[in-house]
Amino acid sequence: MFDINKIREDFPILKRKVNGYPLVYFDNAATSQTPKQVIDCIVDYYSNYNANIHRGVHSLSQEATDKYEQARNKIRGHFNAARSYEIIFTSGTTHGINLVANGFGSFLKEGDELIVSAMEHHSNIVPWQMLCERTGAILKVIPMDENGELIMSSYKELLNENTKLVFCNHISNALGTVNPIEEIIQLAHNVGAAVLIDGAQACPHLKPDVQKLDVDFYVASAHKMCGPTGVGVLYGKEEWLNKLPPYQGGGEMIAEVTFEKTTYADLPHKFEAGTPNICGGIAFGAAIDYLNSIGMEEIMAWEHELLEYATKALEEIEGLRIYGTSKHKTSVISFNIEGVHPYDIGTIVDKLGVAVRTGHHCAQPIMDYFKIPGTVRASFAFYNTKEEIDVLVAAVKKAHLMLA
Ligand SMILES: *Cc1c(COP(=O)(O)O)cnc(C)c1O
Repeated sequence: MFDINKIREDFPILKRKVNGYPLVYFDNAATSQTPKQVIDCIVDYYSNYNANIHRGVHSLSQEATDKYEQARNKIRGHFNAARSYEIIFTSGTTHGINLVANGFGSFLKEGDELIVSAMEHHSNIVPWQMLCERTGAILKVIPMDENGELIMSSYKELLNENTKLVFCNHISNALGTVNPIEEIIQLAHNVGAAVLIDGAQACPHLKPDVQKLDVDFYVASAHKMCGPTGVGVLYGKEEWLNKLPPYQGGGEMIAEVTFEKTTYADLPHKFEAGTPNICGGIAFGAAIDYLNSIGMEEIMAWEHELLEYATKALEEIEGLRIYGTSKHKTSVISFNIEGVHPYDIGTIVDKLGVAVRTGHHCAQPIMDYFKIPGTVRASFAFYNTKEEIDVLVAAVKKAHLMLA
């Protein structure tokens, strides 16, 4: 049973006040809040079995290693990956994309083509631009329309035998659009191109089935799914991870080192040089347990209700425009009010305890498309309520009166 009051009890931060008002946290697309089950896991690690992993024979190290590998397996389950060594721990989505972009250079030659969508986060644009500069590959862009949906007919025209890789987000952080990634992946595979999906915004709401999707690479961050910052995941198909050269050299990623030649460790260690965020990885596993204890379908259903409720209420405000009006979207509402700068709205609603994000949301090409400097973005999580949305709407109305 989805019990919102009980769920809210799990999040200590939701009890605090900001500027004298109860916190209304609507910046979940930037980072989610942390339930006490995950906080307890972090305290337990440092209180009881903090040790380096995969090295010592001593008991603490064994315990930490076991817990870390159990967490890897929980993540494997969440993504329905076939093998746990296809799950690489990273520091986050950005790290995962850079890891693939860096290694992919060995497969590219001048004139090869890469395809990106028009609605990417900067972290799924810049590493590929750097790769193109290094290799002479060409970056092509799938355009989008006024609703914030990708124009699939244009995508089909971009694909050809020179296309080597397609990368796209599963869900847009700035618009909330859920992209048709099944179709994107299949069309890319038809021309022999690989696909990387940025799942940073999708994994807080759903379980991506990487086997069913037949995706080559899928990346996400723990801190958007109730876990800690500084840890994330790269799923890669075994055959790709075997081909891809390592990203960083160091301890833990080698089989044998001499000054003449070094051989690399097996998966997943080949991509996990150095001491990782051990506690973070284990807490990521605890966050997945927590999400599953509530149920991803229940989470998605409640968030959808919040989205519809908030969309309707905000649309009634005169001069307010919502960016991202696809029928397929998650609980992100990007908006502006005519004649008012988004930053000013954000500042005034913060005075009333409401946390929203303002700006370009690391997706400047989207802002350029709509010819705006940025938006106000309210993003809801399963622990939010309709009463909190009422507070947001009243705060936005107040800001509008003060600024217009
Ligand atoms: C947040 C986000 C990223 C970047 O994630 P980091 O955790 O900062 O590495 C990339 N893509 C999307 C769609 C995001 O929402």
